[in-house]
Amino acid sequence: MPLGLYLHYPFCRNRCSYCDFYKEVYDKNLERQFFHALATETDLVANEYADDKRNITSIFIGGGTPSLAAKELLSDWLAIIKNCFRLSNNLEFSIETNPESVDLDLLEFYQQLGVNRPLFGIQSFDTRLLKVLDRRHLPRDSHRAIYQANALGFTNFGVDLIYGLPGQNSNMLAMDLDQMLDLEPPHISFYQLAIEEGTGLAEKVSAGTLRLPDQELAHAMYRGGVQQMEEAGYHRYEISSFARPGFECRHNLGYWEGDEYLGLGPSAHSFMDGQRFSNRAYLAVYLEELQAGRLPRVIDESGLEERMTEAIMLGLRTSQGISRKRFSQRFGVPLKDRLDRKQYRILIESGHLVPDRGNLRLSDEGFYLADEITRRLVK
Ligand code: SF4
Repeated sequence: MPLGLYLHYPFCRNRCSYCDFYKEVYDKNLERQFFHALATETDLVANEYADDKRNITSIFIGGGTPSLAAKELLSDWLAIIKNCFRLSNNLEFSIETNPESVDLDLLEFYQQLGVNRPLFGIQSFDTRLLKVLDRRHLPRDSHRAIYQANALGFTNFGVDLIYGLPGQNSNMLAMDLDQMLDLEPPHISFYQLAIEEGTGLAEKVSAGTLRLPDQELAHAMYRGGVQQMEEAGYHRYEISSFARPGFECRHNLGYWEGDEYLGLGPSAHSFMDGQRFSNRAYLAVYLEELQAGRLPRVIDESGLEERMTEAIMLGLRTSQGISRKRFSQRFGVPLKDRLDRKQYRILIESGHLVPDRGNLRLSDEGFYLADEITRRLVK
């Protein structure tokens, strides 16, 4: 069985205007304290699962901006991981980076650590749009970072691109995608901008200073983007995830397929032995708990019904859809028992839902309405 390990690195240089992830502004001393607490957390967690004989099959370091992490602190943590856990020979090891904080030295260091899948938060190649997002990099930083990854022989890497940006139209997005496809990334995450409450961007949008493309235009952008990527040889394996064959993100597939994972760092989530739990979000609380030798954990009390709904929602976002067999093995209930029969029939007849060799998946048209369909379908 696959087992993923996630580390949440909680620091960024600044706060991007659209972002509501948990992060603190980078501070060298605070970072030291964080890694010290992380070492304690890693030891405590490793003791807890000392009898688990499984290998870790993927490591994913996300954030925040993990490419800010001090090299010696990161490699000390990884030494603890190697000491405490068994790592698969075929480990997928991803780390998120911001293009402006990447250079050849850093990528070489990652390679020595065993990272085999750097991810670059490109978001756009339009300088003006990057500014609206308060990103710190310029398009040339993205080009340089990918050039360096290629020069070092990384055969697997990924990029993130956002669409539906304020003032963006389909032509602008097509130009962004052209530039991105020229870089030939094996993996692409292609997200619609989400306006999160309490962010700087949300304020500007509600004040009318910035205008977002309407939903119809955003759908057209998604369709155009999918077509452009498919024509370039990528396949969509999840609603926002595109890869060349064989370069799908195994770590994320684990989340969507209900595999187990361990999360370390503030706000990280875990799912182990059928139990879900998460770490307290705030760094101060995280540090305090671990200084006292306690795991900063909150147990997820959500019941079976919520977990089944989540599994349906995540499964329908993948191109394979939900495996009926796996669903009933996991929850002890047939999938059909969780679906509204009338809506199921209507959605099959309209072609939005497709029963496919023991799986239930969305059609191409259904993908554009995934959230709405899940809402209607689940009892
Ligand atoms: S760098 Fe990433 S995590 Fe940090 S504020 Fe920007 S979007 Fe959020």
